[in-house]
Formats: sequence, structure tokens, C-alpha cells
Amino acid sequence: MTPIAAWANPSGPVDGDAYDRICRLVCDAVAQGCDAVFLDLHGAMVVADRTDDGEGTLLEKVRAIAPRVPIAVSLDLHANLTERMVRNCDVIAGYKTYPHVDQYEAGHLAGGILLRALEGKVKPVMAWGNRPLLAQTLRENTGERPMKDFVDAARAAEKHGLLAATAFGGFQQADIHDAGISVVTVADGDRAKAQAACEAILDVAWRQKEDFVYRGEPLEQAIARAKRMAEETGGPILLLDHADNCASGATQDTMYVLKEALRQGLTGIAVGPVRDPQAVERMIAAGVGARLTLKVGGKMDMPAIGEKGEPLELTGVVRAITDGEYTITGPQFQGMRCYMGRTAVLDTGAAEIVVIERNQEPWDRGVFTSVGIDPAARRFLLLKSRMYFRPVFLPIAKGMVFCDSIGVGSSEWTRFEYKKLRRPIYPLDEFAAAHR
Ligand SMILES: [Zn+2]
Repeated sequence: MTPIAAWANPSGPVDGDAYDRICRLVCDAVAQGCDAVFLDLHGAMVVADRTDDGEGTLLEKVRAIAPRVPIAVSLDLHANLTERMVRNCDVIAGYKTYPHVDQYEAGHLAGGILLRALEGKVKPVMAWGNRPLLAQTLRENTGERPMKDFVDAARAAEKHGLLAATAFGGFQQADIHDAGISVVTVADGDRAKAQAACEAILDVAWRQKEDFVYRGEPLEQAIARAKRMAEETGGPILLLDHADNCASGATQDTMYVLKEALRQGLTGIAVGPVRDPQAVERMIAAGVGARLTLKVGGKMDMPAIGEKGEPLELTGVVRAITDGEYTITGPQFQGMRCYMGRTAVLDTGAAEIVVIERNQEPWDRGVFTSVGIDPAARRFLLLKSRMYFRPVFLPIAKGMVFCDSIGVGSSEWTRFEYKKLRRPIYPLDEFAAAHR
């Protein structure tokens, strides 16, 4: 049976009461008696007033109820692995892709080992470890170095006899002791083998630690570069507002990148989506075809980085109003029905801005096509995206520029004040070349 399936965008700590309720549903189901437990978890949950280790604490509760029942867990590549998680289950396998396109394979791997363990065919034993390395998600694309090497080392370990091996990039915005890169390995009965492989995979990442750091450029320079690229190629050029990516915890309503693009005279920009329920309300009240001046975005403050929201005043025509629903046609979550909330498009002449009521990142062309915008026909696509634009928008783009801006999903470490993170940790602290 499945006692509960729940999902949320990354954001601040999980509400303690919600966590208790979800844990209770899982624990009650286990208490009724079962042969095995499989939990599909993320791995970087922090819970307000409860625990910095949401998954480890849940697993501890489950194990206490059914100490002899085998437990398997699948995790996201951005899990912050802890000793408590590993101690309280029997099998862990995580995603090996980012953008994540192998959720099914990770679940299949963990579940397959669990089934064979139940049949007495294997005896899974785990080892885990980490390195003091805070990798930036922009450098965790598994299609290129250094993350590709890290994940490939895990794949190679599976080819050489391990039941499972996973290389985790970690979730750096969580201010907890164990944030950062880690590895877990599962061997058949041979703990020393699991441990040796785990250390070897970790060393692959540590040797390339400098390459896990994202190095950006000033916003003004990035926009100027994008402008030249569009003049040379005709576009579309992707303007990637990665710091305001809601799937990284951001508010999805900052306007700094658009403001700079308009200041430098860029035209033919499709922007999306921006979350601003108040602006949607005003545009719906005005109706399609109406011309109006309103403040867009910047409605939410960002206390985590000490910034206030800054709306952008724009004048334009309401081009479209929809219910914000579409079905994904791209490779990620294909066929899934999506709900952006009520949606309106403001056309300022230079930019068409898709404004929505609910958080949703541009993970499919449907965020534009559902409101009548053909993204392939625009000079610039300003996307509040960090990684998921790759399989969807890169194929129609003539180039991409990462536009560093203010947002909770920022890759500038200096914006964050870490209190609980273990120190020293790279790149916040320096390490001698030989240190491990
Ligand atoms: Zn992830």
C-alpha cells in the first residue's frame, strides 16, 4: 500500500505539523505489518522546530516500529546524505542525472535490490562518506565535467560488482551540518568493498573541487554579450535568470534581469513565467486588449539573503488570459498536466511577459505555447531556470547566457549566512592541496 504521496517546490523549512502528519501516515502503515518498506524521498528536508534531517528522522521512526523489516530508499541527486539515513535503512540508490530524467531507474535499482534481499539472494550492506565540498548546482550538470566524472565513477562501481553506487551533488542552500557532496554504496555482503568504492568515488569529486565552483560575470556584461549573440545569430538566445529559479527555492518574481535587458534596448524578449497573483488579477480585470501601467513582480521579500522585493513598473497591452493549464510535450514529465494558476501575458512591445499565480519553472515549452507565444520565433527567452531549460529550450536556441542576479537561488555564497554547516568546507574555506 502507499500511505501517502506528497510533493513541494524547495523553499524554507517544512512546517513541523505537516511533517508530523506525513510521518504518522507512513508509520501507521508500517505498524499494521508489512514485509518490506520502500520510501521515495528527496534527501534534503529540513523541518522547522523538529529536525535538520527530515528523512533520517523519518527512517529512524520507521525502523523503531519494525526493526527487522528491510527498508529501501530512493533519493534525489541533491540529497544531503546523513549518517542517520544510512543507519536506519538497508538500501539507498539515487538519481544519476541532472536534469533529473532517471527517477524511474533509481527506484527500479533500489526496489530490485530490496526484492532480491527478501528472496535471500543478496545481502545488501552499505557504506557512505562525504568530502567538505559545497558544489554549486550550476556545476552539477551530469552531461559535463566535473559532475559527469563523479557520476561515471559511481556507474563504473556498479559495473564492477557493487549492487548500487550513488554520487550526490547535495543541496547547498540548506544550512545544516551535512550539506555538500556525498556518496553511498551498496555491496553484496562485503562492507570493505563498499567502503573502498565509496572513498574512490569521493576522491574523483575532491580532485576536481575547483570545477564545482560556478564563476559568473556582472549582469550588465552578460546582457551585453547576449545582445551581441542575438545580432550575430538572430536568436533565440536564452537569458538564464538562475538565481530566481523556483525549483531552487526562489520567489520567481524578481525583475532585475528584465530591467537590465530593457535598459540595454533588447527587443523580442519572451519572459517566463513570473509569479505575481496581484498583477494577474489586475490584467484579468482590465481584459484582453486593454492597455495598462502596473507594477510587475518583486512582491516578495527575501529575508534569507537580506533583500527586499523590487517590482518593475511596466506599461503594455494584455495579450492573453488563460487558465494556465497545459500538458507537457517535452522529455521531462512528458504527458503530465500542469497548472500555473490563472495566467496573463503583458506585451510591452520589447517584451512579452507570462505572469502566473502559482510557482512553476519553465520546464516545458508549454509555459509559452499555452498562451500563444512561439518561443522559437523570439530573439530572447528570459527563463527563470537553472538546469531544466537544457532538454527543452537548448534545442531551439542559438546560444545561452547565465545572468547572475539577486535571488534566493543565487550561486553567490557570500549572500548566505551559514551557521550550522560543518567547517572548514570548500570553497568557503581554503584547503591545502594534499588535504582530503
Ligand atoms: Zn534535485
